[in-house]
Parts: sequence; structure tokens; C-alpha cells
Amino acid sequence: MLLGFNGATTMKADLPADIVAASQAGFKALEIWAAKMDRYLADHTAAELKALFDQHGVRPVSINSIEFITFRPPAEYEGIKARCQELCEIGHVLGCDKIVVVPSPTPEGGATGEEIQAESVKVLRELAEIAKPYDVKLAFEFLGFGWCSVRTLEQCWEIVKETNRANVGLVIDTCHFYAGGSTLPSIERVEPKRILIFHINDVEERPRETIEDAHRLLPGEGVIPLDDILIRLKHIGFDGLCSIELFRPEYWERDPEELARAARAATLEVVGAYFEVE
Ligand code: ZN
Repeated sequence: MLLGFNGATTMKADLPADIVAASQAGFKALEIWAAKMDRYLADHTAAELKALFDQHGVRPVSINSIEFITFRPPAEYEGIKARCQELCEIGHVLGCDKIVVVPSPTPEGGATGEEIQAESVKVLRELAEIAKPYDVKLAFEFLGFGWCSVRTLEQCWEIVKETNRANVGLVIDTCHFYAGGSTLPSIERVEPKRILIFHINDVEERPRETIEDAHRLLPGEGVIPLDDILIRLKHIGFDGLCSIELFRPEYWERDPEELARAARAATLEVVGAYFEVE
């Protein structure tokens, strides 16, 4: 299992600082936070960014994220497709083969399960067509929050299955898995090669419906049954990318390298019991 570090964890650090912090902490993989990359590319080229990654022995493994891809009015949807194309072009230069894409809130006035399924499949197929020439995969990430149109692993997997494109898979994020009430058996029904990214984190003890990103904690410090999740991932033969993704403002005040080291140590403690880790 490849351990990665997600740039959201150190939100206030810039992209070069993330690359250095990840490298110093022993990570071989970094998930790029897209807003940081936009800032870097405002006065650098993608080739310069690739050189920076190479220099520090870190691989860019994903770009996070294109948010709220579904249920967009036509003009906004054109913007989503253009952004997808742009990130694919950059990803291709960087040798970064995954983009995380996120479903939208349920539209005001509501939507049935069938409508959400149909819209999500349609959009994922269209974005997959854009990504295909660049050898980029789309990783669809359900959000456990009450307002999101795709909230559970089961629902997300149904969408990815029906989308049925070689370059479309999903993300399991432990915070969203727990907050949205995904079930442990639902992991066993997913094809392991379709789990493109496993976002690991923990969360404070509080009612699930009140969980927000800011309540995330280092793995092992909260109440998510990470062992139960890992056992099932192991059982189905998942051996892909496991990346530490936290959005805790308190952590953003810490030194990025120190935080990256702490994140790696905490994750190894939890994951190391089940997986060989690099
Ligand atoms: Zn995530």
C-alpha cells in the first residue's frame, strides 16, 4: 500500500512546502491541493512543477478536486468541463493520473435516487471522455454530509458501476464513510481496482449528522472503526493509495514538516497492522 499525504492537511502551506514536507516525512506520494497548484502555476510552468517533484523524490498521485460536478446550470457545467480539461493537461505533464471529482449538494426542491444516479452517470461519462486522451482517471468521492447528493459508499459504487468507464473509480474517505452511515459490508461489494484512493483520517466523538471537515483527527485519535474498515479492504484485495487527508484548522497552524511526520507515524500505527506500506 502506497502512503500519500494530502495537501488539505497543511492548508496554509504552499505547494512547494507540501512537496518538501512530504519528502522529509518519508512520503513518496503527494495529493495536490488544486488551489495551491493554481497559485504555483500563476508564475511557473507545469514542467517546473514536475522538476520540483522529481528533485524531492515525491510523486504527484492526484489533484484534489473538482467540486460539485453534478446538477450544474449549463454555463457552469461548461466551466466544470473546461476545468477538467485543464487539470488533465497539467496532470499529463506531471505524470499525475488521478483527479478527484465531487458530487453536488442535492438540488433545492429535492431529487429522487434515480435522478441523482442518472445525473451522476451522465456527468461522469462526459468527464471521462475528456480525461481519456490524457490517461487520467476520475475518482468520484461521496461526501457523508446530510446535504450531499451522494452520501454513501453503496450509492457511490452503484453510480461508478453503471458509469462503466475504465477511467472512472471512487474514493473511500473514512470521515465521509462514517458520517454518512456507510456500512462495513458495502466495502465487500466494491471491486478493489475501482477504489482509486483511500482517504484515511479519524473524527471526534459527536453525533454523526453534526460532523464537519474541521472535526477530523489524526488516525487512531477518534471514533471511526478504522480497523474494521482496513480488515475489509484487505479482504477484498485492495492495495492502492492510502492518503492522509485532514481539514482541521488547528493543524494548519503546525509546521508542515512536523505535521507530515506526525500524520505518517499515526497512519503507520493503524495501517501497518494489515498492510505492507511504502
Ligand atoms: Zn477525502
